[in-house]
Amino acid sequence: MKNIYFTLGPSKLFSGVDKDINQALKEEIASSFHRSPKIQNIFKETIEGLKQLLNIPSDYQIFFLSSATECMERILQNCVKENSFHFVNGAFSDRFYQTAKELGKTPKCIEVEPGSSFDFKNIKIPAKTELVCFTQNETSSGVAIDPKDIGQFKKRYPSMLTAVDIVSSAPVVDLDYSLLDLAFFSIQKGFGLPAGMAVLIVSPAAITKAKKLESQGLSIGSYHNFINLEEYSQVYQTIETPNVLAIYLLNKVVKKMLAIGIEKIRAQTLEKAKTIYDFFEQKKGFKSFVRDKNSRSQTIIIIETEGNSLEIVDQLREQGIFINSGYKEFKQHQIRIANFPAHSLANVKRLLKNLSSY
Ligand SMILES: *Cc1c(COP(=O)(O)O)cnc(C)c1O
Repeated sequence: MKNIYFTLGPSKLFSGVDKDINQALKEEIASSFHRSPKIQNIFKETIEGLKQLLNIPSDYQIFFLSSATECMERILQNCVKENSFHFVNGAFSDRFYQTAKELGKTPKCIEVEPGSSFDFKNIKIPAKTELVCFTQNETSSGVAIDPKDIGQFKKRYPSMLTAVDIVSSAPVVDLDYSLLDLAFFSIQKGFGLPAGMAVLIVSPAAITKAKKLESQGLSIGSYHNFINLEEYSQVYQTIETPNVLAIYLLNKVVKKMLAIGIEKIRAQTLEKAKTIYDFFEQKKGFKSFVRDKNSRSQTIIIIETEGNSLEIVDQLREQGIFINSGYKEFKQHQIRIANFPAHSLANVKRLLKNLSSY
């Protein structure tokens, strides 16, 4: 039987990616000039497809960067002179916050224990905040933020920009992009592709902010600042030679997702998540790490284990099933399971059947 990857990213490839890679070679994508009409057209189709799939407003920009970690840095360089504000509840939200410090900004944060979420209604953001940063799906702890809570901030603080890390929840999370300014994901998670590229979604207000900082003589970075990215994106290019193969493959996966329908993909993902959570709910020696049901991620499922989780991870691997152990201090006490669109219900059933002997 084939190996199945329930790892958090890289993970299981979306169905047909192997054929798409072969097709790319046949079409000589890897040797084609990156400023030729052939490649520009793929670039254009990918942007249009993503806008349609995720329902992104037409006046928003979509940029291709190298990783989600790069997106964090570019967002902070282009949209923050001094003051960003971060909701920190795990390793990735903390990385966003630390990046702001490393860039010499003066970020503020509110921090809660891994596994918990935030009491958004009672949190006040300092008035001078320029950018509010959310990690909608904190992969290290399995906590998801309700998109409505993110939308509320834009209504409460219309002068501030908002940035949302959706790396491990896109395309499943249903966001109202008109109520946020920046969102980003890398393609090796929910899109089921090889690693090596990220997508950054940018509102007109965020571009305006970058231009304002630049006009004040501040650095907004070099080749990947928003002004350069926007200028080149108009002609479906990037300054550098981009990861054309990744753009090609993303275009193919987006087309497949459009053919299935995003509503169906979301419904199926929620159904699989319920199957997994329900299984562990009834299983002795296992417990959801996120206690509040409403804060549980649908795509990153974290389960506490009474016994040593590394043994479970190792034994499953021998059966050709790959999952993750816990993050850092939780290494031996948790298993982490990705539930992405690439995973079928049959895949999930095979996983749970193998787990039922514990
Ligand atoms: C994986 C992940 C990242 C980092 O993605 P890279 O592609 O490795 O840069 C950032 N945020 C979250 C929530 C993630 O899950």
